Amino acid sequence: SRGSSSPFRVVLMGASGVGKTAIASIFAGAVDSMDCDEVYADEVCEQTIMVDGEKAMVTLLDAWDSEDELGCSQDQCIQEGDAYLLVYSITDRSSFLRASELRISIRQHRPAQHTPIILVGNKCDLVRRREVSISEGRACAAVFDCKFIETSAAMQHNIWPAFHGIVQQLRLRRDTK
Ligand code: GDP
Repeated sequence: SRGSSSPFRVVLMGASGVGKTAIASIFAGAVDSMDCDEVYADEVCEQTIMVDGEKAMVTLLDAWDSEDELGCSQDQCIQEGDAYLLVYSITDRSSFLRASELRISIRQHRPAQHTPIILVGNKCDLVRRREVSISEGRACAAVFDCKFIETSAAMQHNIWPAFHGIVQQLRLRRDTK
């Protein structure tokens, strides 16, 4: 197992168009940006963030959906992850169903019960176009046995709490090893 100084590898997953690139660019724009110039080319960004008064190094991997021909393969990204942000758009029910399929893929590669996953309902600013209710998101997360958060990359709402939440879960897991 890796020491506390090695970065946590967090994988962004979800159907195309749900806002993964938008979330990654908020992450890339954080203070102390080290390595994020190539975020769009490499789909990888490393960042040091403060969580609960302690620095955490996070490498963000943006996994392209398998329907997409560009970028790194989703299977490869799944295998490399310590934790997952499973993103759908609240305005797109098919992306919500896609998240369930991706949840199954993650479980196949990561049978461990304690692999942190956060189900992220993005675009919560688009209230009039909502197709997936908050309670459906919550219920789905309960079935998945994972945390749930609604975000808006456009409004920069709840993006950092999502990253902080995943780091908190990773630390809990690391500390109980
Ligand atoms: P990706 O394919 O998952 O990487 O999705 P993108 O990040 O490219 O976003 C797809 C489109 O949705 C773009 O036009 C974004 O500007 C838009 N978008 C992303 N996040 C949000 C959001 O939270 N709210 C709104 N209104 N639009 C968003």
